Amino acid sequence: MEEDIAEIPHYKYYFATFKELEDKVDQIELLSDVIGVVTIVQDLEKSTLNSRITSCRNVTIKNVENKELQVTLWGHKTDLFDDNVLKTLEGPVVTIFTSVLVKKSLGKPRLSSTTSTLFFVNPNIPKVEDLKTRFQEDVKTIKFLPSAITTQSSLNEEKKENRKTLVKLLEIRPKSTKDMRFTVKAVIVDICEKDGWYYMACPNCMPPVSQADVSWWCQKDSFINKSPLAWYKLNTIISNQTGKMRMMIYGRVAEYLIKEPCIQLVTNHVNQDKRKFPQAIIDVIGKYKIFQIAFETKAIDNVAICKKVFDDETSEATNNRHRLSPPINPKTPDPKVSVNQR
Ligand SMILES: [Zn+2]
Repeated sequence: MEEDIAEIPHYKYYFATFKELEDKVDQIELLSDVIGVVTIVQDLEKSTLNSRITSCRNVTIKNVENKELQVTLWGHKTDLFDDNVLKTLEGPVVTIFTSVLVKKSLGKPRLSSTTSTLFFVNPNIPKVEDLKTRFQEDVKTIKFLPSAITTQSSLNEEKKENRKTLVKLLEIRPKSTKDMRFTVKAVIVDICEKDGWYYMACPNCMPPVSQADVSWWCQKDSFINKSPLAWYKLNTIISNQTGKMRMMIYGRVAEYLIKEPCIQLVTNHVNQDKRKFPQAIIDVIGKYKIFQIAFETKAIDNVAICKKVFDDETSEATNNRHRLSPPINPKTPDPKVSVNQR
């Protein structure tokens, strides 16, 4: 930490406001620097990042507007952020995190460290003094919390939040509830083959890009000089005792469900029919999960989008007995057709 502090005068910061962070959600090319007073430091925990188990630590900071923001440090960044050192410091403790990625969780922006993230504790710059003065009375000490328990309990709450039966969800199919989330316990019984299982996405704004000579074309950004991302897009049918519903699963959410990065499956699947599903995708059919769903208006339709997937421990062992319809395996493609499409 001390070495990092010594380097500080050489770095030029642009601290993002919370409004600016909201605008950058999930745009991996746009990294931000943030500054805030540390209010909560949680214990180390294990979590999955890009399908790998890694250590992480959640830190909560408050900005000058008195708003809280959570920063998740991943991998070896967690070792560097030493809570034993922080415990010796007198509050308020101001920290800068550089090059963080902005994600969204429960409607709020949430920051995640990247390989280029650095952090500085109480560096000697005027902004730090301003924050210290501002929070002199309010944040005298940092709260050190055990992580596993708090994270697990909030996860469990989220899992149960706004739980609906499928039939109820179909009935309300809300038009004016863009920011509302519902949870439902159901099985994926089918994935539409016609739509394929992935597309090439613009790295800035995520919609599909099309190949234009040597470059790629995005409707919003026109020509892009970065490589597009392979992005899952699964048009699924979910079902339970009460009904059936169409639900889209995209990107990272699908990655969590399939447990394989999309690019990995695409690479293994090269030269094969895009509509033929890899086994890892077929494997998600027929298992009970808890899906967190939001409704978004696309074109004229109101589409159910899966925002999160939770494992349902209570039914893991009984999936087979409870299965309502047999999983529908995508048909084996006609070899002649595959040849033609190469
Ligand atoms: Zn774009």
